[in-house]
Amino acid sequence: MTAAYPEPIDLAAAGVECDCSKCVAMCRNVPCRGTPDEIQQAIDAGYGSQMYARKWVDLDEYYLIVGPAIFGNQRAVASYVVEGTCALLTDDEKCLLHGTGFKPLEGRMATGCDKEGDVQVGYLNELIESWNTPEGRAVAAEWVDRFGRP
Ligand code: SF4
Ligand code: SF4
Repeated sequence: MTAAYPEPIDLAAAGVECDCSKCVAMCRNVPCRGTPDEIQQAIDAGYGSQMYARKWVDLDEYYLIVGPAIFGNQRAVASYVVEGTCALLTDDEKCLLHGTGFKPLEGRMATGCDKEGDVQVGYLNELIESWNTPEGRAVAAEWVDRFGRP
């Protein structure tokens, strides 16, 4: 089943650079997350080595969420909760994925200018759960095979 996610405003198409401090603060804290389909497309576009996988524990099982890595953790399979700057944030505080069509949903939803600083979060549980599906597990397993480091 394909989840129905909210459609973020396409700020890149509107010519907005997206390097304001209130959104970049998110990129400096924890990288955004995307759906398995989005992340697979970004991997296919060559960004797989800039990603990491986070173990997400759900009761007695866990699954992996692959996405943009915290700098220094590229290609890691992290079983710990870490905070840090996204590896795809440039030194001049721009997202390398902005305008490429591969920015993950959570990053595209962080439209601080549109909602007076409020970030929509209602879709996040569904996004996270999308990795606990056959499709999500397959994307994660293939990423681990190709890019994961011990
Ligand atoms: S979404 Fe709005 S506030 Fe956030 S970086 Fe882009 S232009 Fe700036
Ligand atoms: S991928 Fe882009 S929007 Fe997402 S956290 Fe990294 S720099 Fe920010």
